[in-house]
Amino acid sequence: MMNEIKYTLPTKIQDDNAAFWEGCKNQRLLFQKCSECGHIRYPASVVCPECLSLENEWVESKGEGTVYSYVVFRRPFDNSTKERIPYVVAVVELDDGPTFRTNIVDCEPEQVACDMRVSLKWEPAVGDLYLPMFKLAE
Ligand SMILES: [Zn+2]
Repeated sequence: MMNEIKYTLPTKIQDDNAAFWEGCKNQRLLFQKCSECGHIRYPASVVCPECLSLENEWVESKGEGTVYSYVVFRRPFDNSTKERIPYVVAVVELDDGPTFRTNIVDCEPEQVACDMRVSLKWEPAVGDLYLPMFKLAE
């Protein structure tokens, strides 16, 4: 079933990140893992930033991490976010991967703090696409 447009996409879907977005359709958070050194990276790139290898595979994150930093938006970034203010934009350090810019949802902004544990929650975005967001861990 098609979802209503709830969020605008943060980026264009193109060759490099197509697998990431395909994962988002299937509610699987996928990152590139370097086949040479094992570094897991985001955003997607052709070359490993650690060892410059061109070889990689896509691996699924467990979707658990810690809030590294965050801000509370009290004015909408654009029209698509108008209905959601105030909302939290955060940098989450994933246990099994890179840092990830996302939203913390399903709580009051005042409940969010640095070093807090969070877990993945998929939010319908547009069409059959979901966006990876995070909620406070139970
Ligand atoms: Zn590497």
